[in-house]
Amino acid sequence: MKNSKIWLSSPHMGGTEQNYVNEAFESNWVAPLGPNVNGFEKDLEDYLKSDVKVGALSSGTAAIHLGLIILGVKAGDEVICQSMTFSASANPIMYQGATPIFIDSEKETWNMCPVALEEAIKDRISKGKKPKVIIAVHLYGMPYKVDEIHTVAKKYDILVLEDSAEALGSHYKNQKCGTFGDIGVLSFNGNKIITTSGGGAIVTKNAEIKDKAVFLSTQARDNAPHYQHSEVGYNYRMSNICAGIGRGQMEVLDAHVALRRKMHDFYVDYFSEIAGVTVLREPSADYFSNHWLSAILIDQTVAGLSREELRIAFEKNNIESRPLWKPMHLQPVFENNSLYYGKKVSETLFDNGLCLPSGSNLSDGERERILSVLNAIFKK
Ligand SMILES: *Cc1c(COP(=O)(O)O)cnc(C)c1O
Repeated sequence: MKNSKIWLSSPHMGGTEQNYVNEAFESNWVAPLGPNVNGFEKDLEDYLKSDVKVGALSSGTAAIHLGLIILGVKAGDEVICQSMTFSASANPIMYQGATPIFIDSEKETWNMCPVALEEAIKDRISKGKKPKVIIAVHLYGMPYKVDEIHTVAKKYDILVLEDSAEALGSHYKNQKCGTFGDIGVLSFNGNKIITTSGGGAIVTKNAEIKDKAVFLSTQARDNAPHYQHSEVGYNYRMSNICAGIGRGQMEVLDAHVALRRKMHDFYVDYFSEIAGVTVLREPSADYFSNHWLSAILIDQTVAGLSREELRIAFEKNNIESRPLWKPMHLQPVFENNSLYYGKKVSETLFDNGLCLPSGSNLSDGERERILSVLNAIFKK
């Protein structure tokens, strides 16, 4: 019999999700509004603290799109974005007809390099194009260099959209990720730290921004008995069914973060004895990562194999692993309509990095299977 597939990150239900979904059925709140939507928003606000307001939406991508609209991004504007990220961080820039300015990573957190960021801003300003917004990402749950990035943003008076899609449960200097930007974004897609099957949220300290996001996400209906619209609207609100799953997931969020961190420790332990392989780790005690995905870098000259050889060895054993996000400035879709500032840090990370199975629901047996592939490769 073939072993069942081990995923990088798969949905992990806590047990109470279905109660909330059943309640929605019993009360006939089968709609993109209702008690679960309000309850899930409240749960997230209580969890994130910092006096934030949360608006539950249909996806993280929708949250980024509405975030850019609310921060004033229009056709012809320039928007700065971390190059090494999932394409959903950058696609909404294109929805707005704006131009992405991609920025290289730094080596400690793999996120946006504050030095390259400042270079880019200075250069764009010198060309008469001051960027409208900076999209910074906490990749794999690892907080970006919050102080450094926000200092640069403040210095040049540029708004920050914080893509915290991968970082619910992470914090920096004891403040939760998602609460640093002018607007923060969360995702509850199936592979994220918690899931609503599909969903996202906008996070903000400004109640008017939340109200505006909800207004735009529900077709921008003006206050009138008939359907009256003075702005272009979207159908981006979260379903009350999905929000029910989210409420159950919030009950196990911290437990699942602890399990992801345990999985990360497993890899740190293992690779501490393997020359040429390093695990992405928190640079100091200021950083706390949910370790949504554990990721390694392989120095082929020392380790004697490439990340691709390891990936294929996993694949042969029905275990999923994946190269790091391919930087956006190298993606065909952005080739002719974007700019790039930086060196080759993100490119080198992409060439040598691999994400490993990291789910909070991996069993001891599955960890054994992962271990036996690693041993076959590294301890032969
Ligand atoms: C998943 C993800 C998104 C998009 O979220 P969806 O809910 O899938 O639309 C955006 N940015 C990053 C970094 C992500 O990982």
